[in-house]
Amino acid sequence: MRRIENLIGGKKIAAASGKWMPSLDPYRNENWCEIPDSGPQDVDAAVAAAKTAFRSPGWAGLSATARGALLRKVGDLIAANAERLAELEVRDNGKLINEMLVQLKTIPQWFNYYGGLADKVEGGVLPIDKPDHFVFTTWEPLGVVAAITAWNSPLLLLTWKLAPGLAAGNTFVVKPSEYASASTIAFAELFEEAGFPAGVVNVVCGTGQHVGAPLVAHPDVAKIAFTGSDAAGKAINKAAAGDLKRVTLELGGKSPNIVFEDADLEAAAAGVASGIFAAAGQTCIAGSRLLLQRSIYDTFLAKVRAMAEGVKVGDPLDPETQMGPLANLPHYDKVMTCIADAKKEGAVVAFGGNAMKHPTGGLFVEPTIFRDVDNASQLAQREIFGPVLAVIPFNDEADALRIANNSKYGLAAGVWTKDMGRAFRMSKGLQSGTVWVNTYRALSFMAPFGGVKDSGLGRESGQEMIKSYMQPKTVWLNNSAERPQNPFIMRLT
Ligand code: NAD
Repeated sequence: MRRIENLIGGKKIAAASGKWMPSLDPYRNENWCEIPDSGPQDVDAAVAAAKTAFRSPGWAGLSATARGALLRKVGDLIAANAERLAELEVRDNGKLINEMLVQLKTIPQWFNYYGGLADKVEGGVLPIDKPDHFVFTTWEPLGVVAAITAWNSPLLLLTWKLAPGLAAGNTFVVKPSEYASASTIAFAELFEEAGFPAGVVNVVCGTGQHVGAPLVAHPDVAKIAFTGSDAAGKAINKAAAGDLKRVTLELGGKSPNIVFEDADLEAAAAGVASGIFAAAGQTCIAGSRLLLQRSIYDTFLAKVRAMAEGVKVGDPLDPETQMGPLANLPHYDKVMTCIADAKKEGAVVAFGGNAMKHPTGGLFVEPTIFRDVDNASQLAQREIFGPVLAVIPFNDEADALRIANNSKYGLAAGVWTKDMGRAFRMSKGLQSGTVWVNTYRALSFMAPFGGVKDSGLGRESGQEMIKSYMQPKTVWLNNSAERPQNPFIMRLT
């Protein structure tokens, strides 16, 4: 079976223990490659390589302009390798080739954008209140950043961390999900090809317990940039607090997609269906709660149901397929348990609700719709991360806002209405990091993305985020000809 090795200090190497773990192709339900089952010793080696690279003249000695040029170069290499990388992702996580290709083809935009920003982060000369001093600020990189990612969009999630972090001058140790590591290794190799010094981008494969946790605890790591579940995010936040590491946490969601009676109902139905059935619901921004105004409840639900019925399920590598399998066995079991629990809770199935038999034995679940769901139920409150829609009726704007905000999550929300006043009122009232009006699942390198409440801490993308990988330094130069005043009193005047 194909084996994929770690990338540490520019070298491809197996885990120090010599152990391997299998990676599943969820469409065929068979293992297709092996990755290193690494541990703390491999983490130590990778952090040491990243620490050395951080101080090396080949990296620390580069001007910000030269770093920017490297980022743009790697963007070009990623574009040239988009098909190959997208196929690796599909083998590992079963997502649609169409979706992964779009991701791969747009990933270079993040490298171009932050490549351009690298030499535009300026410090300042302060109009300081002490006339005998000259004071200026500069922005410096943090050091070694640990990037820990989920399996659902491994390279896009990693890009959101690498592009600003490298533009700022940091070095990285990447820990991809144990369920989808292959594309990350192939991706990381492109950085050296582009001219980044060895050790600037390192990758260690393995589990959260044996690689993720030691990486978070490592004293030479300055920041953790994490994407994954809120449970793991909270554990990481606690562990990182011990030695005051910075954290960015991109976590889960239970996003409301809210359809008002005055909306363009055809467009809204397409937005709702794609919000939950695209990527088989395995996206943090899945619109997994459909809030539907009572006056259009049955007619609109019939439209969404018809779309669910028509979904073409099958081989994720076939460009005609609209919904692929779930990504891995533990996740498939979790989604099936959530569906069973919802039925036990008394939720009414409007469509689907079962596993799907497929000739390949792939991990398929029917597109599923539960109607008349109580927002307080487990079905409406817990993140399922599968193709499972909970439909909840509402009366008016106030009711919609109350239901939408009654969730521990706050990642994204959709609002479908032709009334722009309502669109503004709703976007102001919704407790979420992103609000989409008459659109859904739209993202850009220049738009900050992230969550409130249990959906996360910090943001990714956008101009300001480069500074979340930097820290200011203030330099005071005394230009007085006089001797210091009383040394026992702080210089505040
Ligand atoms: P997960 O939390 O199980 O794992 C994510 C990563 O963290 C993996 O690499 C895992 O090995 C590692 N990990 C787990 N426990 C750890 C620990 N204690 N210390 C260090 N590392 C640890 O999540 P998942 O199942 O891979 O991904 C699905 C979750 O990710 C969903 O909740 C989804 O909403 C979320 N997600 C969020 C975003 C976003 O941008 N907000 C994007 C994609 C996915």
